[in-house]
Amino acid sequence: MPGGLLTVQTVMTCPHGGIVVAIPTSPRVIMAGAPAVYATDTFMVPDCRFAQPCTTVRWQVASQTGSGGGAATLTVDSVGFCYGATGALQGAVLIQAAQSTVSGT
Ligand SMILES: [Zn+2]
Repeated sequence: MPGGLLTVQTVMTCPHGGIVVAIPTSPRVIMAGAPAVYATDTFMVPDCRFAQPCTTVRWQVASQTGSGGGAATLTVDSVGFCYGATGALQGAVLIQAAQSTVSGT
């Protein structure tokens, strides 16, 4: 698991406990059986229960050295912020853990 890359199976939540859902926008690298998450993906927080729910996530992407111009992947060290429908900053994304290895059969 190189560098703790995030995949669609990684659990991320907004500051209010809502699960952040990453929606891959194009085919990409498969990490441990799950698509890697890119900063350019679409992110939603469908179950945020804050009065003004988080509706999107934007990531602060550090410059990637030697990535060859591809889309930036995200790691457990990435920093993302949740925004509400009005564009208000809601807080940082909480990354619960790197993806688990192989799930049971
Ligand atoms: Zn929220």
